[in-house]
Amino acid sequence: MEPIHWLVVFIILCVLISFIANKKGRSGLLLFFSMVAPAVPLMMIASYSLGNNMDAKPIAMWFVAFLCPVVGFFWAIMAKNKEQMAADTGSYGGMKKCQFCAEPVRAEAIKCKHCGSKLDLDA
Ligand SMILES: [Zn+2]
Repeated sequence: MEPIHWLVVFIILCVLISFIANKKGRSGLLLFFSMVAPAVPLMMIASYSLGNNMDAKPIAMWFVAFLCPVVGFFWAIMAKNKEQMAADTGSYGGMKKCQFCAEPVRAEAIKCKHCGSKLDLDA
């Protein structure tokens, strides 16, 4: 493949992973830049360390570049979603933890959908 094709694949991959993070209530944009930003210096290091080895160079450069979305992908799928974060911390991203059954419910909820308890709005 031409380098430009790899670039397109790289960007698509980063965007897809950012969408996964977004769906989990995390900042997809932040993750996107966290994957793209280190790819450039990593590619420069790979390019520099291989010197004049023109056969291995593009493969090595794209290999290190693609490590960033791979790490980002694992981070995104391992990241807890809003419900899990709310259950852990008490409230997160518009969710809160029911003080009776400890299940995550919406912050606006006045009645727990899990146990049916009446909830304090400020809890
Ligand atoms: Zn409950």
